[in-house]
Amino acid sequence: MGKYVSVAIDGPAGAGKSTMAKRAAKELGYLYVDTGAIYRTVGYHMWLMGIGPRDADGIRRCLDDVNIEIQHQDDGVQHMILNGKDVTGEIRTPEMSKYASGVSAQKCVRDFLLDMQRAFARKHNVVMDGRDIGTVVLPKAQVKIFLTASPEERAKRRFEELTEKGEKASYEKVLQDMKQRDKQDSERAIAPLKPAPDAVKLDTSGNTIEQSVSEILAIVRRKLG
Ligand code: C5P
Repeated sequence: MGKYVSVAIDGPAGAGKSTMAKRAAKELGYLYVDTGAIYRTVGYHMWLMGIGPRDADGIRRCLDDVNIEIQHQDDGVQHMILNGKDVTGEIRTPEMSKYASGVSAQKCVRDFLLDMQRAFARKHNVVMDGRDIGTVVLPKAQVKIFLTASPEERAKRRFEELTEKGEKASYEKVLQDMKQRDKQDSERAIAPLKPAPDAVKLDTSGNTIEQSVSEILAIVRRKLG
């Protein structure tokens, strides 16, 4: 890990990881890395190729054709470039959430992305969010936080996010999809979603974003002394 600080933020879908991690990174002056976006980009490629999210052989065959570039642009958004094309918007649909969860259960995909994620932490102070950052990607991170919130609250946040983007969504369907995805992410054999033994658990139910961000910053400051 060397001279840089890593803050690992893991947790289920809709716990507010990306919103809070992004804000905390800005406050700290660290680089924000959204690892879910990387899995979504691999999923999107498989979707483009007509390969199902559980087709292990197809995914393995196609992985060599995946060239991912991550650009941290001035707008604060982490842009995902897939084979030269900016797919930052395309990967944010409910369909791509399912694809990402499917492909991310494949060992070849996780191996393929591991070093890409670690490379950021070797060169920058980072706030990295995902499912296995504290357990697998950066097990030596100085700060590990496991963010949760009740399923209903998480679904409500996702539902509002989708509605704000002008997408048609039903709360019930969002809740059902989210529970299904969390089950799949938690029960998979490799790098399942679970808190690292040394992670601080933070339940954000009922919190405003500001409250959660300041709790995260307080944990970081306490851990870094
Ligand atoms: O965080 P986000 O919802 O964008 O992640 C999409 C999917 O990518 C998750 O449901 C999970 O299956 C996968 N993922 C993962 N490991 C990570 C980050 C995301 O398996 N570190």
